[in-house]
Amino acid sequence: MYIFLFIYRYIILAKKQKHCFQYIEMPIKCNTGCGKNAILKRPKTGHALCKECFFWAFEEEVHHTITAAQLFKPGEYVAVAASGGKDSTVLAYVMKLLNDRYDYGLKLVLLSIDEGITGYRDDSLETVKRNEQQYDIPLKILSYEELYGWTMDRIVSQVGRKNNCTFCGVFRRQALDRGAELLKVDKIVTGHNADDIAETVLMNILRGDIARLQRCTLIETTSDGEETIARSKPFKYTYEKEIVMYAYFKKLDYFSTECIYSPNAYRGHARTHLKNLEKIRPTSIIDIIHSGESLSVREGVRMPSQMTCVRCGHISSQEFCKACVLLEGLNKGKPKLGIGKTSKIKEHMETIPEPQKGEKTILNGVKTDKKLLDF
Ligand SMILES: [Zn+2]
Ligand SMILES: [Zn+2]
Repeated sequence: MYIFLFIYRYIILAKKQKHCFQYIEMPIKCNTGCGKNAILKRPKTGHALCKECFFWAFEEEVHHTITAAQLFKPGEYVAVAASGGKDSTVLAYVMKLLNDRYDYGLKLVLLSIDEGITGYRDDSLETVKRNEQQYDIPLKILSYEELYGWTMDRIVSQVGRKNNCTFCGVFRRQALDRGAELLKVDKIVTGHNADDIAETVLMNILRGDIARLQRCTLIETTSDGEETIARSKPFKYTYEKEIVMYAYFKKLDYFSTECIYSPNAYRGHARTHLKNLEKIRPTSIIDIIHSGESLSVREGVRMPSQMTCVRCGHISSQEFCKACVLLEGLNKGKPKLGIGKTSKIKEHMETIPEPQKGEKTILNGVKTDKKLLDF
């Protein structure tokens, strides 16, 4: 009995000591030699840094990305796509900071899309409204309701939860373009980070989608159509973990809740895989992006051509863009139109009357409304 107690005590002591050993760490000096103690380890490089040196490194990398790719010209009007989430909040903050620090000479505006998701977007939009005050950047909110006549809540009630992300993604992409056109901005910046891009590279490889694989690593996307507004990703090489760290240490006000509707399952798998790779080798994220950038398509391979939608005039790889097809399905009570087989699309679409001459439509008859331009 005594022997047993002795052994038990020994084990407890050993456990405590092991814990203490891990706990007592020598304070490490910041790797930059600034003299301060480090408080964090940079996920991207493994460097031990103090708070100020981390902020500086983070901001300078974004500045370098912007200048190396010549993303902006002085005097340009730039919309920051703002959702209230961590990426776009940090992007708005850093764009404002760099614009002031390096005299980019840009006029900034926050552009938010309200998908009409109760309990998710309404809360995140409150965050964006606070950001408008905090960063002193004007805000414009455009809703799916205004642009398409449908909120996501209503779409989900029609199509169920299986395919709703298809609608949301397609509509959001075009909504940003529509909003940017209304605001007459020169460029749009989005908060896509290195993790997002690496995930997309993986997904496009797994799907064999060569056309998207080529496009997805571009820092700036412009289509050949002169009417499309350029979009760029200043966080292309910025790790998600560092964005979270930056927001945390800067105490930025952002909204962090997953969308209440089902997440994109396929992307979820790519994401989990990427996170596992990052644990073993943090540079995996950048390495995947570089791999994506280096891939090119052999000459003579037929690629899908970019055209403009005959209904709404936005870029499309088909005669009718996906947004018009999905919207038509919703309005006709056939929400499955545009999901899955494409053979039936044309005959349905041909029944829609053409817009009158000189009449600029937002989408399928929703006319450009001056009201949308008011701040
Ligand atoms: Zn330091
Ligand atoms: Zn269209």
